[in-house]
Amino acid sequence: MEKKPFDQLGLSPDILKAVEKMGFEEASPIQTAVIPVALTGKDVIGMSSTGSGKTAAFAIPAIERADPKTRAVQVLILCPTRELAVQVAEETGKLASFKRGIAGVPIYGGQSYERQFRALHQGVQIVIGTPGRVMDHMERGTLKLDALKIVILDEADRMLDMGFREDIEKILTSVPETRQMLFFSATMPRAIQDLIGRYAKDPAWIKIESVAQNRPQVEQTYFEVDRRSKIEALTRLIDVNDFRYGIIFCSTKIMVDELDEHLHARGYATDRLHGDISQSQRDRVMAKFRERKFEFLVATDVAARGLDVDDLEVVFNFDLPNDAEDYTHRIGRTGRAGRKGLAFTFVSGQEIYKLQSMVRWARLDIRRGRIPSLDEVEEARTSVFFDKIRATLDDKKFKPHDRMIDRLLDQGYVSTDICSALIHLLQGGAPGNPTAATPAAAAPVTDAAPAPASPARAEAKSAPAWVKSRAVPKPAADDASPSAEPVDGEGEPEVRPRTGRDPGKATLFFNVGRKELVTPADLVGKIAGVTRLPAGVVGAIDIHQRHSLVDVDAHEADFILKKIAGIRIKGVTIAPARATDGAPR
Ligand code: ADP
Ligand code: MG
Repeated sequence: MEKKPFDQLGLSPDILKAVEKMGFEEASPIQTAVIPVALTGKDVIGMSSTGSGKTAAFAIPAIERADPKTRAVQVLILCPTRELAVQVAEETGKLASFKRGIAGVPIYGGQSYERQFRALHQGVQIVIGTPGRVMDHMERGTLKLDALKIVILDEADRMLDMGFREDIEKILTSVPETRQMLFFSATMPRAIQDLIGRYAKDPAWIKIESVAQNRPQVEQTYFEVDRRSKIEALTRLIDVNDFRYGIIFCSTKIMVDELDEHLHARGYATDRLHGDISQSQRDRVMAKFRERKFEFLVATDVAARGLDVDDLEVVFNFDLPNDAEDYTHRIGRTGRAGRKGLAFTFVSGQEIYKLQSMVRWARLDIRRGRIPSLDEVEEARTSVFFDKIRATLDDKKFKPHDRMIDRLLDQGYVSTDICSALIHLLQGGAPGNPTAATPAAAAPVTDAAPAPASPARAEAKSAPAWVKSRAVPKPAADDASPSAEPVDGEGEPEVRPRTGRDPGKATLFFNVGRKELVTPADLVGKIAGVTRLPAGVVGAIDIHQRHSLVDVDAHEADFILKKIAGIRIKGVTIAPARATDGAPR
C-alpha cells in the first residue's frame, strides 16, 4: 500500500500548487498507483474502496493531459448521479484552479439545457455528466466529442446498476478510437468485465485492497432485531448514545417515508431523501442537512449517494444493504477526516446469513451488539436531566421558592421527598400516580411486539370512523373559568362512569383537550403512530376542556403510557397517566 508525495508523480507545478492548497499532504495509494500510468496515455482499470481518493486519481492526469489552447471537449467524465457529477466537477475545478485556460462543466438532468448549452458553447475541455444527459447533448449536437482524448467512467458498476448500460455503450462507440479510457469501479461483476473487454485497450489493472488503515475508521456493530421492533431499537440506540447527527438507511422509499414520519412524531428532527423526491427538494434537504438544521437524514442508497457530508456521528443500516459494496459506501460517510465513526446495522431473521457472507467477502470487522434496555435508556435520560439540574444550580439563575418549601418542611415532609416529588412531576408523572414515571412498571417493550404498522397508521391518519367520540362541542363561555379543575368539575354530559364498564380497557388521562382543539383523530393518530400498535387498541375517547380520557386495551396501557410520555400533541408536551380507578370524571 504505497503512498508517495505528489511531487514524485511527475506532475506540473500548477497541479502541485493545487493539491497543496487543497491540503492533500501525500497521494493516496490509488493516486500513487494510477496517476503515473494514466499520464502515459495508457488505459487504466482502477479499483479501490470508497473514500480512497479516486476522483483525484483520474482528474489529475485528465487535467494534465488536456490542452488549454484547444477549446474543444477533450475529457469526458461519466458519473452515475447528478450529485456525484457535481462533486466530481467541484474537485476537478479545484485541482485545475492554477491551470490557466482549462475549464470544465457538469451536465446533468434536472438542470436547464439552456445553461448547459451556453457553457458548452463557450468551449470547455472537461465535461462531467450523467450518461443520460450526455447522450441527450450528443444527440442534439450540442456536445461534440471529435476531439475527445480521455473518457472516464467513475463508479462504473453503479452506473450499470442504474440502467445506464445502453447509454454508456452508445457514448463509447461514438467517441474517437484513439481515446484513453480510465475506468473506476468498486466491484467487477461480469457486465463490467464485458464492457472492459470490448472498450479498453490492453489496460493496466490497478487494485488497491482495502485494508483497515485505508478504510474509514468506523466502529461497526450489528443487532439482531425482530422486524417489528426495529424502530424501538433505533430510538433506544439514539437516546442512549445521545446522537445528534446521522444518516439512517432504508431499502425502500416506503420505508423511508414511514420511518421519517414515525421519528418525527416522536420528536426527532428528521428529513428524508429518496428517488421520488424532486431534485430541487432534494437539494434543499441536503443543504439543510449539511448545515445541521436537522438531526437525522432518512434515505435510500441511491438518494444519499454522492451526498458529501463528513462528521456524521453515526450511520444506521435500518435495513441491511444489498451487498458489501453498498455497506462500505454507507458506512464510509461516518468517521471521515480521521475521526472515529459508528455504524449500527440491524438484521432480522435470515438476514444474519447475508450479513455473514458480507463479512467474509469484504472482511468486515463488525461486532454483535445488544439493544439497550428501557432502564438503560431511562438512565441515560436521567443523567442528561441530572446535568441540567446541576447546571441550573451552578448558574444560580432561578427564582427562590423558599416560602413554599418552608411550608412543606413545616408540614413534616423531608427535603429529599419534596425534590423527588418535583422530579416525578417534571418527568411527566401525574399526582397520585407513580406508575407513569416508574420504568420498572412498564411493559418490557421488546416483548410487547407492536403489530404490523402500515395499515393501522394509514387508518389512524384519516380520522377513523370507528372512533366513538363523545366529545360535545362546548360554548366558548367555558373558557372563562381558567381555574377549572383539570380532571373533573366540568359537569359535562359526556362525563359518565366508565371504570368497570369494559374490563378489557384501561382509561388514560392526557393533558390536552378542547382548549387545544384536539380531536379524537389526533389522539388515535398519535397513539397508533408512536406505538405502532393497530389503531384498534384505542376505544372510546372523551375530550374535555383541558384534558382527554382515552380508553385503550388494558394490556397495552403501560406500553402506551411509556411511549406517549413526552411527545407533543397540539403543542402540548404530553404527561399521560392512568386515570385513577373510580376517580370522578
Ligand atoms: P472515492 O471516489 O475513492 O470514494 P474521493 O475522491 O471522493 O474518494 O475522495 C474522498 C475524500 O478524500 C475527498 O474529500 C477528497 O477531497 C479527499 N482526498 C482525496 N485525495 C486526498 C489526499 N491525497 N489527501 C487527503 N485527502 C484526499
Ligand atoms: Mg468517487
